[in-house]
Amino acid sequence: TSDTRLYQPNAKSPLQIFVRAKKKINDIYGEIEEYVLETTTFINALHAEAEIVDKAERELFESYVYKVAAIREVLQRDHMKVAFFGRTSNGKSSVINAMLREKILPSGIGHTTNCFCQVEGNDGGEAYLMTEGSAEKLNVVNIKQLANALCQEKLCESSLVRIFWPRERCRLLRDDVVFVDSPGVDVSANLDDWIDNHCLNADVFVLVLNAESTMTRAEKQFFHTVSQKLSKPNIFILNNRWDASASEPECQESDLAKVKSQHTERCIDFLTKELKVSNEKEAGERVFFVSARETLQARIEEAKGNPPHMGALAEGFQIRYFEFQDFERKFEECISQSAVKTKFQQHSSRGKSVSGDMRSMLDNIYERITIFRNLKQDQKTLLTDRIQGTETQMMQVTRDMKLKIHTMVEEVEEKVSKALNE
Ligand code: GDP
Repeated sequence: TSDTRLYQPNAKSPLQIFVRAKKKINDIYGEIEEYVLETTTFINALHAEAEIVDKAERELFESYVYKVAAIREVLQRDHMKVAFFGRTSNGKSSVINAMLREKILPSGIGHTTNCFCQVEGNDGGEAYLMTEGSAEKLNVVNIKQLANALCQEKLCESSLVRIFWPRERCRLLRDDVVFVDSPGVDVSANLDDWIDNHCLNADVFVLVLNAESTMTRAEKQFFHTVSQKLSKPNIFILNNRWDASASEPECQESDLAKVKSQHTERCIDFLTKELKVSNEKEAGERVFFVSARETLQARIEEAKGNPPHMGALAEGFQIRYFEFQDFERKFEECISQSAVKTKFQQHSSRGKSVSGDMRSMLDNIYERITIFRNLKQDQKTLLTDRIQGTETQMMQVTRDMKLKIHTMVEEVEEKVSKALNE
């Protein structure tokens, strides 16, 4: 895009940990694929020429080709996923819009999100949406149209609408973060379905609260269910609408500090004592007081070239704006580390197991060739020069192959663990 304000590559972003690891593991799998194909060709030749390899072995090798191709495909699609929950109107859509720096999701009265909405990056320049069970791409020209499309569609509350938004319009989408907005936790009885359908592969959960009230039973219950199904989910808590508390007519700064510390204590207790998903220190870094609406307005002003405070809604804008940025930083660190571990660790151990299996099969074939050679040596006089030649050649090729596989396994192990450590 020509608009550089909207598209600023940020090499320092913690999301780059994931982006780099994804590239690296994709490259490694590219190499594994090459080796597997090469080995399969070699095995097929052994089968055809000398029958040292039987049909079952040949088929097993071929199955590795498919396995590796399947893993590569999953890898290409891997992303970081963040899901937002909380009561209706707490500001979930506004938080997502603020992070995306643009009003993408409809928010406000009459635009209650009544199904799951996923925003993800799209490589082409166009924006469109797709509803569950349909392959039709509905073009999205503007936010009004998107809101209407979402209202018109008769959607079940646990169904998913996917919004594809041009990657170059937002850094987070470009770096493979996928956002999921949910209907309010107050409207659903199907929490189990929600979690099974939309949460199991989420790397981070954000609970959006209304700072003007206390956490409700529905909000707590939802996260209790999540933490029963997932081991130690990463949960951030945003006390949103913090601008509204600051603009209360009689509100003193000391009152605000008191409310803040009460909310903080409750949120930390919830994460540590109730859900037991974080320790005190970590929980302390997962609770924030923000204003999503104000942050979005500030960013829209920034995009126009104006100072961000032009979007301020109340006293204390700067502190709230910094706190939102602090949340984003911690969120980016957390999501990218978690996604690298959960998504790539599994692929790298599968890669190791495929290459390990191939190595032991080749070792086995190598042994058979050795026996075959010894046998042939006993009958040396019967051998023609040509057979001897083929045999030596075969030994050489197998030895090369074996060496190659050993090197490959070492390389893969080294690269994978290096990528993971990084
Ligand atoms: P959702 O139902 O949780 O997705 O909530 P929305 O994002 O649709 O927000 C509901 C209403 O609250 C909208 O009119 C927003 O503009 C408003 N809102 C959201 N966040 C804030 C905030 O931080 N401060 C204020 N004052 N209003 C907000």
